[in-house]
Amino acid sequence: MSWFRRVEKGIVTPTEQKKETPDGLWHKCPECKTVISKAEHRQNLYTCPSCDFHDRVNSHEYFEILFDDNEFQELDENLSSSDPLSFVDTKPYPDRIVATQRKTNLKDAVRTAHGKANGVDLVVACMDFNFIGGSMGSVVGEKISRAIDYSRKHKIPFLMISKSGGARMMEAGYSLMQMAKTSAKLALLSEEKVPYISLLTDPTTGGVTASFAMLGDFNISEPGALIGFAGPRVIKETIGKDLPKGFQSAEFVLEHGFLDFIVHRKELKQRLADLLTMLAEPQATPAVEPAVAKAVAK
Ligand SMILES: [Zn+2]
Repeated sequence: MSWFRRVEKGIVTPTEQKKETPDGLWHKCPECKTVISKAEHRQNLYTCPSCDFHDRVNSHEYFEILFDDNEFQELDENLSSSDPLSFVDTKPYPDRIVATQRKTNLKDAVRTAHGKANGVDLVVACMDFNFIGGSMGSVVGEKISRAIDYSRKHKIPFLMISKSGGARMMEAGYSLMQMAKTSAKLALLSEEKVPYISLLTDPTTGGVTASFAMLGDFNISEPGALIGFAGPRVIKETIGKDLPKGFQSAEFVLEHGFLDFIVHRKELKQRLADLLTMLAEPQATPAVEPAVAKAVAK
């Protein structure tokens, strides 16, 4: 083992010659603590290869995941919030909007777009949690409504990806009106028999759960997503009882009949395309061919 023995003693590398590992190369799973490279994490569509933990991602990533070659036409991209109530908390609402826009490079908490997923036309509205907690204000409600109108006009299926803390406090009553507005638009979409799929991701809560997120022809979710109306602490204090284990997880919600299925992010695009292709197929052919039916009638 002489080759293994350190012959020269006291080797010290000067600080300036030490090689630094570049920051931000690694990703540590918050659930099982597995460390993988950022590139691998991205390749895994931001899910953990060991425990399947789904990291929160935003519209940028979902559009990349869903749309073929990341090609899409964004709708109403420049809608931005005004300040109907002259609301001030720790800072005036318009200042908060401008600061958040600068930080996130987004105009508001939802982006809407039309593109193709595995060749199937699809309109997607995807919420951004990093914009004031994905809160639903007038702009969010209006953009979703306009995207539904677009779906209805062009007869293209609509996918809503929800990720929200609920209504936006700074717009109070105006936020709550968005629940009724979006629900009414979805009713019109349903009348036209255009499919609506609602994907609930971590977390989907408050007024969003209480309106469009639960109104899909299919309500689906990612594994482990938090889905609920009020938070567990509030419910516990109200009913004065301990809550069951796994309460408000996607799996619990599925078991209690509020979801149709849970889909892994890696299978999302294919499952959606399959589902939409199936829904788009012409109405079921009659069990008996018309010619045969005539012969039988004779
Ligand atoms: Zn993990």
